[in-house]
Amino acid sequence: MSSRTILDRLKEGIVQGAEGYVFELERRGYIKAGPYVPEVVLDFPEAVKELHREFLRAGSEVMVALTYYAHREKLRDVGRENDLELMNRQAVRLANEVAREGDALVAGNICNTWAYDPHNVRESSSVVRAMYEEQLSWAVEEGIDFVISETNDYLGEALIALQVSKQLNLPAMVTLASVQPTQTQDGYDYIEACKILADHGADIVGLNCDRGPETILPLIEKIRAAVSCYVAAQPVPYKTNAQYPTFESLCTAAGEQAFPLQLEPFLCTRFEMAAFARKAQSSGVNYIGICCGGAPHYVRAMAEALGRTVAASKYSPAMELHPVLGSNVEEKHKEFLANWKS
Ligand SMILES: [Zn+2]
Repeated sequence: MSSRTILDRLKEGIVQGAEGYVFELERRGYIKAGPYVPEVVLDFPEAVKELHREFLRAGSEVMVALTYYAHREKLRDVGRENDLELMNRQAVRLANEVAREGDALVAGNICNTWAYDPHNVRESSSVVRAMYEEQLSWAVEEGIDFVISETNDYLGEALIALQVSKQLNLPAMVTLASVQPTQTQDGYDYIEACKILADHGADIVGLNCDRGPETILPLIEKIRAAVSCYVAAQPVPYKTNAQYPTFESLCTAAGEQAFPLQLEPFLCTRFEMAAFARKAQSSGVNYIGICCGGAPHYVRAMAEALGRTVAASKYSPAMELHPVLGSNVEEKHKEFLANWKS
């Protein structure tokens, strides 16, 4: 484990994270869209390590163990319940192996379970608690620095994740999904929900997934103003806007829901994600990352926007060295267009 804890690092400045493992490994052909269970951890561990390594080289300081949806409920859906323990342990091992190649932290990862039922809080809470306890106890045995509990649709479920993390004496980052306009699925305003999480001892609160830079920032700024603990923002790199505030709400030209398999036309550029990182920095966000849709070129652009030079910066763009685009860009471009048209 790293000698500098997550809290040490946050005290010193911004910590950069990177996620979107499930989305990216689906695009690479290692995870099935639909169930989105990270079977790749057991079936192609090298593919997981490679993506960890790419995020590490691009500037991520946290290797998030790929245990997203590696819980009992989801594994039952794909008939791999017997692989539950092995999948969880292996995911943490892979994250550790790559973290040691740099000076990165390892985060154990738990998420929304789909088992929490706001109409049957008592019974469903004990099911959720048992799922988190088994996942995190395996993670602790394999070695993690802190817990990321994320894409929480319900404050109630997030509080269970927080309690389980605290029982294990681990720093906890708890972030909410923000699919609805202003409230969690159990009816708490996102800002109020973050405040409650902070009051219950969360070390870092905030939002991840669902919203792109433009629609996550206004909410994050309100959260920043409402809590005194650290704040995390991990948007998706998609061009959401006031009319379509989440990537689930984006529509194709044909009027179909773009999420999750037709989102490419809405991708942000690396410059837009770099601009987000700078805005988040000036808003006082402490943990800046990226979620579904995330890829190493975004992470590097964000790191460099934060004034960092990372391993992958060795190959950052140097367009001045391009034979055509390099000099007199405007003139060359006109020339190119003229030739292309004729
Ligand atoms: Zn996501």
